[in-house]
Amino acid sequence: MAEFALIDLIRDRCALSRADVRVGIGDDAAIVAMPAGHELAIATDTLVAGVHFPPGTRARDLGWKALAVNLSDLAAMGATPAWALLALTLPDADRGFVEEFAGGFAELAALHGVALVGGDTTRGPLAVTVTVHGFVPPGGALRRDGAGVGDQVFVTGTLGDAAAALRCLDRRDARAAALFEAPADTRERLRERLDRPQPRVAAGNALRGFASACIDVSDGLLADLGHVAAGSGVGIAIEAARLPASPALLTLFDAGERLALQAAGGDDYELAFCVPDVHVAGMQRDLARVGGGATRIGRVVAGEGVRLLDGEGCAIALAHAGWDHFA
Ligand code: ADP
Ligand code: MG
Repeated sequence: MAEFALIDLIRDRCALSRADVRVGIGDDAAIVAMPAGHELAIATDTLVAGVHFPPGTRARDLGWKALAVNLSDLAAMGATPAWALLALTLPDADRGFVEEFAGGFAELAALHGVALVGGDTTRGPLAVTVTVHGFVPPGGALRRDGAGVGDQVFVTGTLGDAAAALRCLDRRDARAAALFEAPADTRERLRERLDRPQPRVAAGNALRGFASACIDVSDGLLADLGHVAAGSGVGIAIEAARLPASPALLTLFDAGERLALQAAGGDDYELAFCVPDVHVAGMQRDLARVGGGATRIGRVVAGEGVRLLDGEGCAIALAHAGWDHFA
């Protein structure tokens, strides 16, 4: 299949029409109209085969995830997504693959009203880069540098499921064989969290005006909160017992394994954020209004770094603190 036939196929599936797209796929550049009185939030993220997704990941899930991880970055800024670019590097022009990929991308794009307005298509080892653009009211973006001592720390959803799904797949992991004996629907629920993360866009929007700092959990809770602590010049104390776990995680893992997955696993795409006491009730009310919720997991403290505490307030050391590509 020729390059332009692939691009046509992608456009047919993904170029959702938006009134603010003046020129979409098909010219040298896209032309879009900014809504008056807003700032633009821009983010990009790449998924590389074997690094960001396991071999055998379905093309449909890959299309979804490539957009989801980017929308998660906009969610963490409190932005409303609008436009996306897609740079696809494919080993060959496989029509079936591109159809499925575009189908998964389009499914999530439609849920968030995102129009694909351009991209690039090249041949090489499978890799996907998506760039997203969204709007925020001036000065209203949620950042990493605003946490204050005394703020409460929250996280949306549950943690550790995606990392647990990866463990189920790891053939070198002695526990994997035992995990494979788990009921199929339990394993599938974990796998769904890995393959189809749900970007918390509505939650991110609801947090504007309440959260002092926010980040999406992609590399692992402790590692990502470390960026908030460093950016804000504070420390963060997390109570291990408060970390939210899904029923699947609770059934399959003992407390020690579970904690490692929740605190350091990564790929959760939940939002971790800080809220001053005075704003906690408002935040909870507005999150509930958009059908979301959050669990309080700790406090911002004076000092630096992120500490994980047991029931007695003693620091817990984990073997791996989070994901680092170059470590
Ligand atoms: P140029 O050679 O001018 O850079 P291309 O041939 O790369 O143009 O792309 C032609 C048009 O198709 C452009 O509008 C570009 O944005 C779009 N496009 C190319 N690849 C993709 C893709 N994977 N997804 C979406 N749009 C794409
Ligand atoms: Mg080009």
